[in-house]
Amino acid sequence: MAYPPRVEKPLFFLDYDGTLAPFAPDPKRARPLPEVPALLEALRRHHPVWIVTGRRLEDLDELLPVPLPAIGLHGLQRGQIGGPREFVVPEVVRRELARLRAAIPHVPGLWIEDKGPTFALHYRQAPDESAVLRALEPWLAQVPDTLEVIRGKKVIELRPRDVHKGTAVRAVAAQWPDRTPVYIGDDTTDEDAFRALAERGVTIKVGDGATAARYRLPDESAVVAYLRQYLTSPPAPA
Ligand SMILES: [Mg+2]
Repeated sequence: MAYPPRVEKPLFFLDYDGTLAPFAPDPKRARPLPEVPALLEALRRHHPVWIVTGRRLEDLDELLPVPLPAIGLHGLQRGQIGGPREFVVPEVVRRELARLRAAIPHVPGLWIEDKGPTFALHYRQAPDESAVLRALEPWLAQVPDTLEVIRGKKVIELRPRDVHKGTAVRAVAAQWPDRTPVYIGDDTTDEDAFRALAERGVTIKVGDGATAARYRLPDESAVVAYLRQYLTSPPAPA
């Protein structure tokens, strides 16, 4: 796969975990690479920069204190880091999520991360991952068709089928018709965005694994190096 091109008028969409921040056993301590906050501050003076994450945006207020526009909860939340935001969750979906949240079985090593109306089940620290997954099967069987089960890196999440990172970034990109979306992400949920932007965007997968993205970067440091290129010359005149 070729190195991603540097485009003239980018519209950046940047995932957080595994893209700007290396994974940490406790997601609350997953800090970005040290150079990232200053880099994003500089970048946003020249180009629109959006953060697109599966997290609640509240989590990033402290981890990434840069006032960027952002999409949270895989498209269920929209707003600004350190600023106002809102959930975009239909009431019927809220009720389904609350019912399932109350019915999660107790399994050693399973950590539940509450994210407003939704939640994530982490099993990174479980002594026996396959035992966790077996114990969760009856619970997963209760998930209705209106919700989709997302199996990420040692995490399981639920989301409405028709709201995802792809629908969210397509809506934002439509507001910037003269800019080229540059989407960088590492996980399963970024694939929706790669597909949504396939026609007009530069889509970049971080790390190994099958992907719908057109380009690839090996790790978070390579993401920083790629983004740095956009600061090496003055922005093109409007
Ligand atoms: Mg990620």
